Amino acid sequence: MKCFNHPAGEAVAICKACSKAVCVECVLESENGVACKQSCAKSLSEKNELYTLQAAHLKNIKRMNVLGSFFSLGMGILFIYFSSQGFGIVYDFIFLMGAGFAVYGIMAQLVNLAMFIKSKSTKLR
Ligand SMILES: [Zn+2]
Ligand SMILES: [Zn+2]
Repeated sequence: MKCFNHPAGEAVAICKACSKAVCVECVLESENGVACKQSCAKSLSEKNELYTLQAAHLKNIKRMNVLGSFFSLGMGILFIYFSSQGFGIVYDFIFLMGAGFAVYGIMAQLVNLAMFIKSKSTKLR
C-alpha cells in the first residue's frame, strides 16, 4: 500500500479519521490514535472531545435517574406516613399517591440496578 500524499512512499499506517494510508512522513501518532499530519489530527481530537462530552452527559442522566428514584421513594414514604395520621377519602387518596411514588421509585431503582449489572457484565467480556 502506498501513501495517499506521496505515491512513492510506502504506507505505514491507516488514518483513524479518514481511513487513508499514510507514510512515515505523513503519520502523526497522537493520544487519540494514528492520523494524517495536520488535516485529520485536529478533527480526531475534536471527535474525541465530543465523545468525552457525551459520556459525561450520559453519566449525568444516570445520576439524575438515581436521584429521582430516591426522591420518589422518599416522597412515597412521606405520603404513606402522612396518610396513616387520619381517616377518610382524602387520606386514602394521599396513601394512593404515596404508593404510586414508592412503586415508581422502586421500579426506577430496579432499572438502575439492571443497567448497572448489565454494564458490569459487558465490561467483563
Ligand atoms: Zn486522515
Ligand atoms: Zn506521505
